Amino acid sequence: MPELPEVEVTKLGIAPYLEGKTLTEVIVHDGRLRWPVPEHLQKTLRNQICHSIQRRGKYLLFQFDTGVMLIHLGMTGVLRIQKKQEESKKYNRIEFHFGETALRMHDPRKFGSVLWHSEEQGPVENFPLFKKLGVEPFESEFAGANGAQLLYERSRGRTISVKQYLLAGEVVVGVGNIYCSETLFEAKINPKTPAGKISKVRYARIATAVQLILKKAIKAGGSSLKDFVHSDGEPGHFMVLTKVYDRSGLPCKECHTPIKQITQGQRSTYYCPACQK
Ligand SMILES: [Zn+2]
Repeated sequence: MPELPEVEVTKLGIAPYLEGKTLTEVIVHDGRLRWPVPEHLQKTLRNQICHSIQRRGKYLLFQFDTGVMLIHLGMTGVLRIQKKQEESKKYNRIEFHFGETALRMHDPRKFGSVLWHSEEQGPVENFPLFKKLGVEPFESEFAGANGAQLLYERSRGRTISVKQYLLAGEVVVGVGNIYCSETLFEAKINPKTPAGKISKVRYARIATAVQLILKKAIKAGGSSLKDFVHSDGEPGHFMVLTKVYDRSGLPCKECHTPIKQITQGQRSTYYCPACQK
């Protein structure tokens, strides 16, 4: 499943080809995605300029003249820049032409989505699906002491584990399952600790670790930027070298204690019982 770093790198990969360009055509091969692709989209978008591409959580926001198109990659979605005349392959669900350039969305399992938020609906921050999203890990709300303060405040009285608290994405977005195990190892916090029992000082370590781990993943993905253009390759996860994730029974890279795997909320968590207290 594409996580925040993959979506961020997708944005960096496609933006230079589309920003400032006029959309000439939308071709819907199969609009039965997680939600149906709006039928008016072809008509609405034609001849509009794509002014910018931003990211919010795992959504890509394409700012057009009269609104914002939102794309979510779901479980298996991939966006590719290709030449219009290049043959469109199986499972390409929708494509957007900007003159000779085509942006194609490939999505075998169809959990992705393409949505429209018109100017009349107000600022895109009001978009219903954004209401429950936490802050962005690299924006000012999470910078410096703000991140620790936010994680601390919102967790008071909460008995769920810190792993599930972070994974829910309601305070800060982007800490997907892999990144969550890695973050808590980096911060040396046991993933089973109740969220409400963690001090502000320890949340400061978590906030720093969230940014560090996500930055590392985005940086690792930077080397794959060229894959977004004229390529059929499937992108993988960027976290090539994990310290705990998927390393059950292997020695901790810092203390050699075997890494433990547990299940929390039906998702696997990996941690070092010696390093993470
Ligand atoms: Zn260890």
